[in-house]
Amino acid sequence: MNPDPSPLRFETRCVHTGVDQDAAFGSCITPIYQTSTFRWETLAGGPKGPDYTRSGNPTRTALETNLAALEGGIDCRATATGMAATSVVMHLFQPGDHIVSGTEVYGGTYRVFTKVFANLGLEFSFVDMRDLDAVRRAITPRTKCLWLETPSNPLLNLTDLAAAATLARDAGAISVCDNTFMSPYFQRPFEHGVDIVVHSTTKYLNGHSDVCSGAVITRHPEHAEKIGYLVNAIGLACSPFDAWLVLRGVKTLGPRMEAHQRGAMAVARMLEKHAVVERVYYPGLPSHPHHELATRQMTGFGGMLSFDIKGGRDKAERVLNRTKLFAIAVSLGGVESLIEYPAMMSHASMPPAARLAAGIGDGTIRVSVGIEHPDDLIADLRQALEG
Ligand SMILES: *Cc1c(COP(=O)(O)O)cnc(C)c1O
Repeated sequence: MNPDPSPLRFETRCVHTGVDQDAAFGSCITPIYQTSTFRWETLAGGPKGPDYTRSGNPTRTALETNLAALEGGIDCRATATGMAATSVVMHLFQPGDHIVSGTEVYGGTYRVFTKVFANLGLEFSFVDMRDLDAVRRAITPRTKCLWLETPSNPLLNLTDLAAAATLARDAGAISVCDNTFMSPYFQRPFEHGVDIVVHSTTKYLNGHSDVCSGAVITRHPEHAEKIGYLVNAIGLACSPFDAWLVLRGVKTLGPRMEAHQRGAMAVARMLEKHAVVERVYYPGLPSHPHHELATRQMTGFGGMLSFDIKGGRDKAERVLNRTKLFAIAVSLGGVESLIEYPAMMSHASMPPAARLAAGIGDGTIRVSVGIEHPDDLIADLRQALEG
């Protein structure tokens, strides 16, 4: 796969890159090649393209071409889930290799690192990624990877991608960024020197809460080759139908992200002034401790925010139960607004001590702001807060 040399702008690539490949009938929309295997015309001639869907499928290739272009990489592998994307990257490492991760990563990432890959001999240190000196101190001669997730989940802390990528490079390690929260519309880690980008495309890239899938995007040929080999060898690729759904979702990524952001900004401003709210975590607010970095590193602030409510668990529970437009649900990045309680939901797989150390308290509520009209969202949240 070649880097996309086209001068087309981001939103145009979302709609067109990888699409328009149907020479047989000229269908405008990429067909779903729902087949496990491909016929060879003759033994000597081999298959026309891929021979088996675990190794390759034209629908999946269309999505991979699109996502590689959006992140500015040279290659992409679309995987069955976001966790499959994270797991395949971990298979680049050997027993004894050391990985430095943020404390405040996606709960499933923390679980797969500590409960699965630690058993296979990889060693992990979890540090506060806001503190680059702490990151530097955690690096050892065996460190092979800095695992970055920014903004973090659920407290929307930022890691300075350029500084972290430089630290990794100086240590002879690679940097990997989970770019799920911002999507390439608002943040392109390769532009800051990061080596590999992973996504849970379940979230903003698909955007409609109707598929679980992931992606690994690379910018170095040796990573592209290894990740491609591992995805096929282990069997982590996404299905043709899921690839088709994500490709359909990606076409509206730009307008959706703008709408998510419009809603999140309005909701954050309302919450910041509300008497029962202790603190709001949204990088778009000037009061956010990393607002300045956010304006430098990202081209927008996204649709995710969290807040601490006065009154702890009981009050948080009342607010969640009273909302009508915000469904109580894990996950994020769909067109509909969701609300959740990290301590019992998204971050339940984190031990309580680790959760508290990360700053996730009894009153912490996370919101994925959808694309509904902000006035309706604000009215609904207000009545929930005040009930
Ligand atoms: C959801 C999520 C994942 C895991 O993705 P799945 O598609 O659920 O496997 C990883 N990282 C982040 C930041 C996520 O939000």
